[in-house]
Amino acid sequence: MVLKKAIQTVAQLVGVSAQPVRYDDVLEEVLSHHPDAETDYLAKAYAFGAKAHAGQVRKSGEPYYQHPTAVAYHLAKTGLDLDTVAAGFLHDVLEDCPVEYKDLETNFGHDLAEIVNGVTKLGKVKFQDKAQAQAESYRKMILAMSKDLRVLIVKLADRLHNMQTLEHLNPEKQKRISKETLEIYAPLAHRIGMSQFKTELETLAFYYLEPESYSELKRQLDTRQKISHKTMDSIGHEIRAVLEKNQLESDVTSRVKSEYSIFQKLKKKQTTIEGIYDYYAFRILTDSVRECYAVLGALHERWKPIPGRFKDFIATPKPNLYQSLHTTLIAENGMPFEVQIRTHMMHRLAEEGVAAHWTYKRGRLLSVGKSEYTAWLRKLVDENKDMSDHEEFLESLKAQLVNDEILVFTPAGEIKTLPKGATPLDFAYQIHTELGHHTIGAKIDGKMTSLRSTLQTGNIVEILTSPNQRPSQEWLKIVKSHSARHKIRQWLRTEEKKKSIELGHQIFEKELKRYKIALKTISRDLVQGKAEGLGYKKLDDFYSAIGFGHITPAKAIAPFLPEGTLDKPTGDEVRESRIAKAINRLARKKGAQVTVKGQEDVLVYLAKCCSPIFGDPIVGYITRGRGVAVHKRDCAGLQRSLNDPERRIEVEWDKNYDNPVFSVRVLVHTEERPGMLLDITQALKDAKTNVRKFQASVNVEKNLGVFDIVIEVNTINHLENVFKHLRKIKGVLSQQRVK
Ligand code: MN
Repeated sequence: MVLKKAIQTVAQLVGVSAQPVRYDDVLEEVLSHHPDAETDYLAKAYAFGAKAHAGQVRKSGEPYYQHPTAVAYHLAKTGLDLDTVAAGFLHDVLEDCPVEYKDLETNFGHDLAEIVNGVTKLGKVKFQDKAQAQAESYRKMILAMSKDLRVLIVKLADRLHNMQTLEHLNPEKQKRISKETLEIYAPLAHRIGMSQFKTELETLAFYYLEPESYSELKRQLDTRQKISHKTMDSIGHEIRAVLEKNQLESDVTSRVKSEYSIFQKLKKKQTTIEGIYDYYAFRILTDSVRECYAVLGALHERWKPIPGRFKDFIATPKPNLYQSLHTTLIAENGMPFEVQIRTHMMHRLAEEGVAAHWTYKRGRLLSVGKSEYTAWLRKLVDENKDMSDHEEFLESLKAQLVNDEILVFTPAGEIKTLPKGATPLDFAYQIHTELGHHTIGAKIDGKMTSLRSTLQTGNIVEILTSPNQRPSQEWLKIVKSHSARHKIRQWLRTEEKKKSIELGHQIFEKELKRYKIALKTISRDLVQGKAEGLGYKKLDDFYSAIGFGHITPAKAIAPFLPEGTLDKPTGDEVRESRIAKAINRLARKKGAQVTVKGQEDVLVYLAKCCSPIFGDPIVGYITRGRGVAVHKRDCAGLQRSLNDPERRIEVEWDKNYDNPVFSVRVLVHTEERPGMLLDITQALKDAKTNVRKFQASVNVEKNLGVFDIVIEVNTINHLENVFKHLRKIKGVLSQQRVK
């Protein structure tokens, strides 16, 4: 019941009417933007789609064609051309109906056929798995978008209507689709400046992904709004008076920002709604740029601006070409409010994005202005084109979609674009892969800095190199751009392969020795031949398979022994596993760098199932192909996978490991009382821990509070210390490490 009600709220919020959209609604919208549009074409597209989808039903039980009609309606509302609106009616026919590309092209022309083809998913049969199918579909879609942006706009309208009707799917699908919407489609809408699509997509996704946070925030906002309404009303009046006095003619409106953007801020700043300055904003629209600055001056004269909050996006537009002045002022009662000042044209661009640049004749697209948007998409295609790993491609795509950009200069004055937060290392890799590999430091604006410094727009960056320098795992944490990360990973992979070959070779030699066979007495050709018999074309692949644990030493040497001898080794038997011994011996030779002692040169990683912290009792487990997983000794997941005791290996924490940092999730149950939140945050502060995530919820009926916290600790003692501080708080009932 409650849920149903909330959905209605969302539906109202994003303007979904309870009535299904009809053809006449679409027509009306089209004519309101293009009074002389060729309506026959539109009617023909509608009829064609209706016929193709006849008899199909949606999950909700409604006729399928309601969906394409609604998509066409969303498109018509943006004022786009007839091809785009018609593509809304027809966007699903290639995927779901026995309609061919040719049919569309002959009936509706090349442009429409291309748009519909662009939004159509690739056939499902030819892929190994879902991840690959998804990655390839994105690739195809982005390529089609970079040729014609209308493909993206149709896709966004399609996604918007699917989000609006998501209630008919099961919760798991709702979450998956909402996640994809947040990660891919909302950022794409943002990048082409279509802020209305973006806000609606985000709001719906937020509602389905975090229903509790959503309704809690909505409740808080409603309350706050009632309180602040009066203040805001009087400030609005005064702004108008100030502008009139200065003879600045302009439109003043006010609004509360979207729930999702406020939620993002709350999360990022770890604050409460009181700590957010700008959830309430005024917007002032003028006729000219000159007037924008005049308005700004008049307002700064009247109210005190908060230092550091003034942003001039007119002089320096955002990467999606958004232009505006932003400033935050303080009212007499101490309440801050944000003001955005821009021209009417800039405002149209901010709302409609790329579409605002297009010109039409009789509802047909005449010219497509502003190639910056498509240039950006093309760059996205280019930069990801050699990524053969699907997971990596998806990850890179998502990151590039959300990143803002900075502009920096080479010493020769050439401009390079990098993601926000980029370091000199990103810069070096962008210039040349080899330069990146050998970077040891950098000069920013002539001053020596470390590889970790964050670059700012306008910096002049000079890279210092050394021929002896080599990339390391650590670098993956320093770089921000995906192309740099990709290059480092590639280098590390090659290096890991080399090491695994060396390790495999030694294990193999050692294992043979136990049967009194010396490797050097066996000819290379013989080893090669037997390895081929085991399925390895190259000798290196055979050794690296042993090194990585893809094949056990016993299996590897079996073809070299007389039959029946394998189980009777003649060497000394010890409890410790043979692989473990070999690894230990090899590893002891190398210098200590990594967290787990004795394994310096073996691939070691902390198991995700139990996330051990420095100081936990631990044990290693040699995985098939991914090196040694380090588990907590009492890890339940490990108990299950310990079917092969020979893969167990003793490991310990490296005492020399400098300042380790581990994330750990903690659940705290408390009595519900005023001030509890504050006490807990104070305790965390006292225990000197960084908070990564903090979520509080209240069970009013039971009078209980639950705090879901992710903190950073250095050691298990540090975590104990955090618990000690929490225990001291009055009303804390329990605390528990979750992983
Ligand atoms: Mn669809």
